[in-house]
Amino acid sequence: MHNQRIFLSPPHMSGKEQQYISEVFESNYIAPLGAFVERFEQSICNYTGAGFALATNTATAALHLALRVLGIGSGDYVLASSFTFVGSVNAILYQNAHPIFVDSDESWNISPRLLKKAIIESPKKPKALIVTHLYGQMCKMDEIVQICKEEGIYLIEDAAESLGASYHGKQSGTFGDMGVYSFNGNKILTTSSGGMLVSDNEVWIEKAKFLSTQAKEDAPYYEHKEYGYNYRMSNVLAAIGVAQMEVLEERVERRREIFELYRTLLGGYDEIGFMPEIQGSRGNRWLTTLILDKTDPYKIMAELEAENIESRPLWKPMHLQPLFQKSIVVENGTSENLFNRGICLPSGSSMSNEDVECVSDVIKKVLK
Ligand SMILES: *Cc1c(COP(=O)(O)O)cnc(C)c1O
Repeated sequence: MHNQRIFLSPPHMSGKEQQYISEVFESNYIAPLGAFVERFEQSICNYTGAGFALATNTATAALHLALRVLGIGSGDYVLASSFTFVGSVNAILYQNAHPIFVDSDESWNISPRLLKKAIIESPKKPKALIVTHLYGQMCKMDEIVQICKEEGIYLIEDAAESLGASYHGKQSGTFGDMGVYSFNGNKILTTSSGGMLVSDNEVWIEKAKFLSTQAKEDAPYYEHKEYGYNYRMSNVLAAIGVAQMEVLEERVERRREIFELYRTLLGGYDEIGFMPEIQGSRGNRWLTTLILDKTDPYKIMAELEAENIESRPLWKPMHLQPLFQKSIVVENGTSENLFNRGICLPSGSSMSNEDVECVSDVIKKVLK
């Protein structure tokens, strides 16, 4: 058994974080905002090519701001990937709107074919679509962007897991009307908690900024015409973010290496399948995920746990959640099948090759 637990995706600091935090303390701009928030936003724009960015306290909050800014409200319908984490879609409920869940295809991500079907079958024209680039792998963006354009539906990318992933050289999060990244504790980069909203539309980002700071009107006193939120990121956390952004490319490289190593070590087993990478794309391989044909994934997870190694099932699709029992879904059984057969393996960029070999050895022992 390992003395040191192998975690799924622990924080991996660059080493510069404390220096930048010290600068925050020296300037005493601990709060509310400060220069690092702008630097962090600028570094996201520089890396991703997004026109404008707004740092928030979580990605969930950024998604909420996106829906508010796009005018999604009570009784509206919002299409969404079903195979995702609930943080993707909670904001639909905050806005008293209705989700319509769309199942996956062989890419594991949202199926463009089912998306078309969902639009046709929707009780009312859907206003927006939230797509998730699952585990850092790109959705079929050519088709999805085209469908949204043709149908006049806003496209929001939940790129919480896919910072650094690209499709035909264009970064995840920059295909839609708005995109969202997460910096929570287990993402490819972390600020302990944090999010980012991006868009090429400056007016929308300005509106989101206004709403994220209590919708305070431009007046010498506190004047409010509409309600807002307290969703902004602190300068201390933004300092961590600036340091993390400096190593994003290395982190993507390392996660991809870890995936390749798993594939080399475990690819020989007929019953094991890995999440594909669609043609023309480069995922960030946030988590290495695999599916099993015959073996019970919970048996493997139990064996890994016995060796002090963390692993998880794949996300349970939203249309199978009790929370969304009454929601509309267009499904084909794909995400349910993946959920029943899949495992997320430790994939942190600070893992050593020996760690990857240890994890693989445990899996091999069960499969024998
Ligand atoms: C982590 C995650 C979120 C939520 O991010 P927070 O910053 O924790 O709010 C949303 N969607 C997906 C797909 C995620 O993985």
